[in-house]
Amino acid sequence: MTQDGLLAVDDVSKRYRQGTLALDGVTLRVPAGRTVGLVGESGSGKSTLARLALGLITPDTGTVRFDGHNPHRLRGRAGRRARGRLQLVPQQPRGSLNPALRAGEAVAFALRVHGTPRAERPERVAELFRQVGLDPALARRHPHQLSGGQVQRVAIARALATGPELVVCDEPTSALDATVQARVLDLLGELQERLGLAYLFISHDLAVVRHLAHHVVVLRQGRVVEENTTSGLWRAPRHPYTRALLAADGGGSPEPAPPAPAGHPAPVGEPSAP
Ligand code: ADP
Ligand code: MG
Repeated sequence: MTQDGLLAVDDVSKRYRQGTLALDGVTLRVPAGRTVGLVGESGSGKSTLARLALGLITPDTGTVRFDGHNPHRLRGRAGRRARGRLQLVPQQPRGSLNPALRAGEAVAFALRVHGTPRAERPERVAELFRQVGLDPALARRHPHQLSGGQVQRVAIARALATGPELVVCDEPTSALDATVQARVLDLLGELQERLGLAYLFISHDLAVVRHLAHHVVVLRQGRVVEENTTSGLWRAPRHPYTRALLAADGGGSPEPAPPAPAGHPAPVGEPSAP
């Protein structure tokens, strides 16, 4: 849509019942067809922002708009098609798939919810599998019969089933080893080019974000401390916290650093609030 962005988050705060102020006055935009990287340490509020963007939770104050609408209101039959415009690629794809369903059934179920006629579903499932680089024969397998990378591709196929315009990727590769991670990132980049997708791409790993994002938003303890173009952030980070994150990540190198091993980056600055 307009300069307002496909996703517009304005001055959003969110406190959990237990008392944690997870987000404190966050504003960001995701333009159509672009990737905004959201980086920050564990506990900085990234997944909370993902849930708000998807309309799964509501802000205490501030507004979230997807193409001008409150994503939380996209309910019922009429909302179904609209809801499909907004999808999630989760951090733990294996946990997000029903172990009792074959991979193809999981994707077919998303098609059914979206309203794709039954007769069209098998061909569409095969097409989606090919689109994410999977042999359609793998549709017959259960999640435990697939590798981590294959399971994440199934989760991506399922997200694509509804023809989304915005895909929220919440640490989509942090459960994968380095080589598989790089291939999944390449796939996400190709899909963006082919399908014109916008991504809100969340990671604690700066190297991963650098790979895909056009813009980067740095979150610290629920607040945005820096917003920059990806090249600007690496060339001339504005906030000391960003500089510390880059230093901890081995930043400043001309090429993206190899993905860090599993786990969290070294702690930077103060520990995050409990
Ligand atoms: P991140 O994804 O960056 O690790 P989260 O958004 O998951 O951060 O969490 C931000 C803060 O909110 C953390 O302090 C976390 O403990 C807290 N939090 C997250 N989810 C809940 C919840 N459902 N109930 C209470 N506190 C939560
Ligand atoms: Mg998270």
